[in-house]
Amino acid sequence: MSYKPNEQKKPGLSRRDLLKLGAAGTAVTALNTLGRTKTAKAAQTSLKKKASQKHTSIDEMVKIAPDLKRFDQAETAFMKSLLGDFGVIPLKPGDDPNMAFAFSNIMFGWTGSNPLSGLENPHLAKQEPGHTDLDYAFSRGGFAMEDFSGSFMARVCSGDSGPALPGPDGKLLSLSLLKQEVPFPGIFKKFPKVSAFESGDDASFAMKKAAKLFGADLVGIAPFEERFLYNTEVYMPLDPVKGIPLKEHVDPFRKVNLGFTPKSVIVLVFEMDYEAYKCQPSAIGETATSMGYSRMMETSLRMAYMIRRLGYNARHASNDTGVSVPLAIQAGLGECSRMGLLVTEEYGPRVRIAKVYTDMEITPDNPKSFGVKAFCEVCMKCADACPSKAISKAVKTTDPDNKPHDACNQVGVDKWYNNHQKCISFWGENWSECGVCISVCPYNKIEMWHHDAAKLITRVPKLNSVARYLDEAFGYGKAHDPKLMKQYWKGRV
Ligand code: SF4
Ligand code: SF4
Repeated sequence: MSYKPNEQKKPGLSRRDLLKLGAAGTAVTALNTLGRTKTAKAAQTSLKKKASQKHTSIDEMVKIAPDLKRFDQAETAFMKSLLGDFGVIPLKPGDDPNMAFAFSNIMFGWTGSNPLSGLENPHLAKQEPGHTDLDYAFSRGGFAMEDFSGSFMARVCSGDSGPALPGPDGKLLSLSLLKQEVPFPGIFKKFPKVSAFESGDDASFAMKKAAKLFGADLVGIAPFEERFLYNTEVYMPLDPVKGIPLKEHVDPFRKVNLGFTPKSVIVLVFEMDYEAYKCQPSAIGETATSMGYSRMMETSLRMAYMIRRLGYNARHASNDTGVSVPLAIQAGLGECSRMGLLVTEEYGPRVRIAKVYTDMEITPDNPKSFGVKAFCEVCMKCADACPSKAISKAVKTTDPDNKPHDACNQVGVDKWYNNHQKCISFWGENWSECGVCISVCPYNKIEMWHHDAAKLITRVPKLNSVARYLDEAFGYGKAHDPKLMKQYWKGRV
């Protein structure tokens, strides 16, 4: 099957409809033109500037001796302290004696004591402001990626850039040094529970604040409900050398077991790049998705590190473990759409979702609606643009017998039932993901005033039937355009 963009029928617009749109359309078009003109001018200026710039060197800004000698890493203050603390190179006369155990105090401060010196962290013991359990848990979350895959500690420990992980006693150890193929169990070390929060509201505020700093664009809290966990999950360990499944260990229907009973789910939403998504369906658009996945793991891993340091259980997850869209709706982050994906007010469907299950009591958020369901009833732009015709055009949302759909739907939910097998088949044909539905959706906006205009229109039920075409008139919602794909590498950065 080869893809040709679907014909899109325009609705019959009455004179009255057009008059109604007149004022809004004129204003938004004017703003749109103004915005585009500004952006285009900025791009041209930036490119011209680049072309006229001659290549310069740091030497024109900084005086550097011609016989500059390369520096030894061991002479940096951090390394001097580290090497001294581990007894590799003791501090020399003339070195600041206070450097002794300085590095390891920083390294182990979050655990409460320094195993190399035997000293306790006095600030943590007194729960001084800025040095409380919550503060150190926060900082641990910040370090999570460095601990897990950072080049710095791993290179220092083992001479390679593989992961370095804290052992059960808090010591950082490189995986290659340990000859470990899997994350060291020590990362799941259980700390004594600390009462960092006075209430569930406080916990919610702190988790959201931390998640934002750790990289999430939106955060909400859902109560844990077993009905949104997968019943079973696929377990398919791979042979580390051949990269093929170790068949004797494969269990396609392993029961989901988090190892504890969660009370809350922290739902994390990540925006995917707008410009790259305009190039769908392609490997360029897929990069926005893959970046989304990496950000999901980074932030959720940090959250799990932080929560475990506070003495609670935590499991971070991306698409695994359970269904994400209902959790995100429950957490007040958006609504379900015709295409089956979450639509957020801020970024539309151009998002990815991660979650962190925990047994911490966190006040949940409430679901909220901003008119997506009503708008999806009349829009159908994703269904028209879908190369595999996988998206349902049915009006009714409650009937799972609405076609086309397939066995990859969880029935029993009021939603549009789509044909996910057709979708994935197209991805195979395309040799990369698709995402056209996300790209063309009128909720997929980046600039605030555009977004506001689109939101405004989608909230006026009488304008719903024409909002999609107004959107197209503004030049939005194009996809599967080789020109956009070529242009991607030529635009300004
Ligand atoms: S393209 Fe239209 S119908 Fe499809 S999800 Fe977006 S708003 Fe709903
Ligand atoms: S991602 Fe799937 S459902 Fe969406 S437009 Fe592409 S083929 Fe259709």
